[in-house]
Amino acid sequence: MRVIDRRRNILRHTWKKSPQRKISDIRGIIIHHSLTESGSADAFARYHVLTNGWSQMGYTFVINRDGLVERCADYSDVTPHVGDYNKHYIGICWVGDFRKQEPTAQQYEALPALITFIRKETGLSFPVTSILGHQELPAYSWKQCPALDMDSLRGNIQAGVTLPVRNNFNNDKKIAIISPKIVEKLGSLQNKVMWDDAELKKGQIGRITILKPINLWKRDEHYNINKARILQPGEVYRVYGYDDRHGGQYSVGSGYWITKMDGYVKYETPSKAKMEALKKL
Ligand SMILES: [Zn+2]
Repeated sequence: MRVIDRRRNILRHTWKKSPQRKISDIRGIIIHHSLTESGSADAFARYHVLTNGWSQMGYTFVINRDGLVERCADYSDVTPHVGDYNKHYIGICWVGDFRKQEPTAQQYEALPALITFIRKETGLSFPVTSILGHQELPAYSWKQCPALDMDSLRGNIQAGVTLPVRNNFNNDKKIAIISPKIVEKLGSLQNKVMWDDAELKKGQIGRITILKPINLWKRDEHYNINKARILQPGEVYRVYGYDDRHGGQYSVGSGYWITKMDGYVKYETPSKAKMEALKKL
């Protein structure tokens, strides 16, 4: 993890000071996205301090698109990011708008490294159950922040896995904000092929939906497998390949595999038209 210390040279309010807390007041970590497709700690500091008039920028750490971590506040600073919960939570912000973008591979790698870093520095254990999305706090469920499937993200952090999780995710999937037809149109405007509510990626041959708890395996260079974590019903992964080893397994990228087991997983392939559209990009 690359981290730079911005605590002494980031914009702060000229006279307003943030309240202070003891390390023992901290209960957990809140994950945000910036809701902007690009940005940096400096950009957020200007907005939070000059436009909003806050004492300082809202996040203790910012994870840039290239994975660089900017450290912007002391743990003792009660920064404004989650209203009444500020005193008890450290804020980490991923740069991006995860309603329409995905975190980069570098951002996925930086997050667990940063959490390990915070655990070491504070001496607090921060079990994964204390790592929450902004949208998971009571009274914030209407928010799409960070618009990621937090259960899968926590599972990955627990297992030390850096696989992507679903984006454009609501706590309550029953709230349909945009119809699938419009999502498809928006996708083609952005030079993307959409398959239902997710982007069809180059090299992707299908998708797998978990029906019953099943192992996620990591293969080493000799094709031996090690258990990475247990996947939970409802999780969806892009599939990039299939081979007959270990009874038949689907490749879900980054060296991770899921075994083909009837009743445990559902495998689907996109239409020929979608595969053709993907080729043309
Ligand atoms: Zn947020």
